[in-house]
Parts: sequence; structure tokens; C-alpha cells
Amino acid sequence: MIPNVPGIGGTADDTARRPAPASSSLLEAAIERGGLHPFFQAKVAIGTRAIVGVEALARIASANQSLASPAGYIELAERTQRIDALTLVMARAVATHAVAFNGLSCAINISPLSLERLEFAGELAAAIAPSGLPCSQFVLEITDTRNADYGLKAFETMTALRALGFGLSLDDFGAGASNIDRLRNYPFTEVKIDPAFIRLAMDEAFAKAALVSCVRLARDHGLKVVAEGIETAQMWDFMTWLRVDEAQGYLLHRPMQPQDFRELIKKS
Ligand code: C2E
Ligand code: MG
Ligand code: MG
Repeated sequence: MIPNVPGIGGTADDTARRPAPASSSLLEAAIERGGLHPFFQAKVAIGTRAIVGVEALARIASANQSLASPAGYIELAERTQRIDALTLVMARAVATHAVAFNGLSCAINISPLSLERLEFAGELAAAIAPSGLPCSQFVLEITDTRNADYGLKAFETMTALRALGFGLSLDDFGAGASNIDRLRNYPFTEVKIDPAFIRLAMDEAFAKAALVSCVRLARDHGLKVVAEGIETAQMWDFMTWLRVDEAQGYLLHRPMQPQDFRELIKKS
């Protein structure tokens, strides 16, 4: 039974505003005993606003059964070598739901630490196999993590994931350590621009020039460009002017429970 999340019309997500203190016992409950729940946030095409994809975002059941943002838990799982287990449980659940998403491209967040094991590629493919969906329906958003090595092992695992058909997105681009070097040296198919970079570019000429160049560079190299964290009409207009491919954010659609996302795509 998935606990109800309060919010507008019972469907909106306010979990990101309630970061839970991460505890090892709740992390284990999430991984081993069904306490991990995927939410889904639509990605829309710039221009038409049609839903063209979706990102799965983990929600963790807390002691009082409310659902919380996973940020603290992801960090804990990375520190305690439980991140692969969490990701594989999440991927299995996401793929089960994605069967009802009419062939939409579905993004799953992946810690770069998981790329340190080549076997991770096969394990991820095995996790989604029971759904019957092809790996090519999934895009793996490689998140920004301070301690990621991004060495030869990561390159080999990413190459294996691409060979299986997965798309690879560089998440949080322009924030933290996600930068042009990574785009240049690793087989990414998409770049996801961090909202902090977008906000800075709206305020400051240098950041704006940098963002314009990055979007052009990505496009010239055949990468899809997605803008995330779009909260205002001004941000949307700026992304339209920049001609990114897709956008995602509270202005468009919030993360929501799987059944609400199914209803949303039925109506749109
Ligand atoms: P992310 O992948 O960059 O996801 C975007 C985050 O911004 C999500 O927070 C989402 O709920 C939130 N968001 C979406 N639109 C807006 C907006 O317009 N404004 C604002 N302020 N926020 C918005 P969430 O769900 O709390 O996730 C935080 C991070 O945790 C994610 O950032 C991702 O790095 C990580 N994460 C989430 N699920 C997973 C997972 O299954 N596995 C792994 N490894 N990491 C995950
Ligand atoms: Mg992401
Ligand atoms: Mg991001």
C-alpha cells in the first residue's frame, strides 16, 4: 500500500520540501522491504508542451509512513556501498510501472559510483527485463556526486550500457562537477541543465554566454538538451529562446504517484 502524499488535488509532490533525516534502518527497509516508491515527473517538448518523457524519482517511506525525498538516503547508500542495491530495486519497480506509459522514454537516476563495476550494466538490464521493455526505452541520468572517479572503469561501464541500448544523460550539468570534460570524454546521449545554471544565466551576461555555448556545443554533437527545475514563465521563455529540446519542472508538472502519472498521460 503506497501512502498518500498530501498536495494539490492529492497528486502534487511536496516531498522535496521535506528532506528526511536518513537512517540506515529506513534505508534497509527501502531496499529490502518495499519502502522504496518511484514517483514520476513528466518531461515536455519545448514548443508544444506535449509530454515526451518521464523521470522516475525515488521516494522513501519514513517511520510514520509518509514519503520523503531520497537525497539524504542516496548519500547514505553511496557511503555504505548500498547504492547499487537501491538502484536495482528502483529500476525493477520503475520498469514495472513504465509498461503502462505508452512507450514514453523513461529516465532512471544512477549514481556515478555504480559505474565503477562493469557487471552493473548487465545487472541493470536484468532488473528491467521482467517488464519486457527494451533497454532503449530507458535513459540513465548520471547524477553529480563529489567522490565520483569518472575513470576508465566508468567509461567501460557506460560503453556497455550504451551497447545494451540505454541512453545516457549527464544530470546536473553546470552545477558541481558535471562539466564539458565529462561530455567530451564519455558516451553521453543527453545533457540535463541544472536549474542553478539556468538561474545564473538569466541574471548574468557571462553565465548566459556560457549556457548558450554549451547548448550549441551539445546540439552540434548530437546530444539532446533537457532543462530541469523550470519554475517560472521567465525560465520557460528563456529555454524556448535557447531552443533546448525538452523541459521539466514545477511550472509544467510536479513529480507524482504512478497512478496519477498514468491519468495525466491518458488526458494529454
Ligand atoms: P535530480 O535527478 O536532479 O532531480 C531533480 C530534483 O528536483 C528532484 O528532487 C525533483 O523532485 C526536483 N524538482 C523537479 N522540478 C522542480 C522544480 O521546478 N523546482 C524545484 N525546486 N525542484 C524540482 P528529488 O526528487 O528530491 O531528488 C533529488 C535528487 O536525488 C535527484 O536530483 C537525484 O540526484 C537523486 N535521486 C532521486 N531519485 C533517485 C534514484 O532513484 N537513484 C539515485 N541514484 N538518485 C536519485
Ligand atoms: Mg535526474
Ligand atoms: Mg538534476
